[in-house]
Amino acid sequence: MPEDRMMPNDALRLFFVAIEEVMGKDGIKAALHGAKLDQYIDNYPAKNLDLGVKFSEYGLAEQAIEDFYGARGARAMLLRVGRALFNYGMKEQSAVLGLAGQALKLMPLPTTSKMKLLLEQMAAAANKTVNQPTRVEEDADAFYLVVDYCMCQFRPRHQAPCCFITVGALSEAIKWLTDKNYAIQEITCMNLNQAECRYKIPKVAE
Ligand SMILES: [Zn+2]
Repeated sequence: MPEDRMMPNDALRLFFVAIEEVMGKDGIKAALHGAKLDQYIDNYPAKNLDLGVKFSEYGLAEQAIEDFYGARGARAMLLRVGRALFNYGMKEQSAVLGLAGQALKLMPLPTTSKMKLLLEQMAAAANKTVNQPTRVEEDADAFYLVVDYCMCQFRPRHQAPCCFITVGALSEAIKWLTDKNYAIQEITCMNLNQAECRYKIPKVAE
């Protein structure tokens, strides 16, 4: 098990709000209980950026969603939670995130330039509001969001990359920006003992 890392309260709170949106009030209660995170039932972390919660707690909550729905059904639910997370993040935190919302969307720039700007803002937000080391890389065909410390390290070992919350959030972000679907994939994962969680965002839509 890696050394734990502190996370701003608001990051875990937003995650719980997104879970509640998808699973309902009773669903998140069951999930939090399953994750042995009973202290958060009807008592979400505060809406501030104090480093009051842990990456391991976020990972346990993620795992609880998977356990609740079973390995087969969980992927779709985790993707939905990720999409909800982006939408709440945009709504509640656009000032904090530095996401200039509609302004970015309407900029007269090529789509790939806007994608890069949005990904860079999301990476900056991950560093600032999640305390998660994140950066953007690029080659001819794709952008890559690269995460150097992830909550998936606190989940049981999977057979394949398992950070579907982030895949969902990225998919929703790019869909919001472009009104198109892009086949976003996690290609390496710290849960599999790889050095980083790396997400590939192709430059061309599906
Ligand atoms: Zn991960």
